[in-house]
Amino acid sequence: MNKLQEPSKKAVVLVSGGLDSATVLAIAKERGYACHAISFDYGQRHRCELEAARQVARAAGVVAHKRITLNLDEIGGSALTDPAIAVPEQPGEGIPVTYVPARNTVFLSLALGWAEVLDADVIFVGVNAVDYSGYPDCRPAFIEAFNRLSAVATKRGVEGRPIRIEAPLIHMSKAEIIREGSRLGVDYGLTVSCYNPDAECRACGRCDACRLRAAGFAEAGVPDPTRYQ
Ligand code: ZN
Repeated sequence: MNKLQEPSKKAVVLVSGGLDSATVLAIAKERGYACHAISFDYGQRHRCELEAARQVARAAGVVAHKRITLNLDEIGGSALTDPAIAVPEQPGEGIPVTYVPARNTVFLSLALGWAEVLDADVIFVGVNAVDYSGYPDCRPAFIEAFNRLSAVATKRGVEGRPIRIEAPLIHMSKAEIIREGSRLGVDYGLTVSCYNPDAECRACGRCDACRLRAAGFAEAGVPDPTRYQ
């Protein structure tokens, strides 16, 4: 590619291997950003999402894809990082045990550091506060607070060019997200949402993430490409 044709705007995009972040990556691309994907191997039980993240990033033609290993399982405290805590199959009251303590704070902090190194203007993250599991770090208040942190925590911030955190899905329903991604050509067959997939990465069909995903495809009127157990 000739230099003049390369997008000059850079973005870091958090890519988990799930449906939401695959859609966000397509949105960032459509907005003309040269996308730098970042994924986290944090000791999650649903590790096949890391392979999904690789495929999603490759299909989107990202400039680079970084995978960072974190071992959040050393902290535990979540059904996603502690094998002793079961993934619930029925929705319960309050914040579910699949919440990973401070996960998005940790992830966005590392993305912020990489964005500063790359001199990227924006970080895209696929958090969603409509059809979600009730996690505190998926709400608008969290994104707003992180934007204030970005402005005071970085060299770029004090120089008056803070790196912006954008969460384009935050007010969208799962069906709206799927329609938008379908319009942008996202191959949802590459994505994995299940909290408890089997060894072949097939979805359980029963956890919160599976339920929200299946309902989203049904409501959007888009065929569900998920491989179930
Ligand atoms: Zn599942």
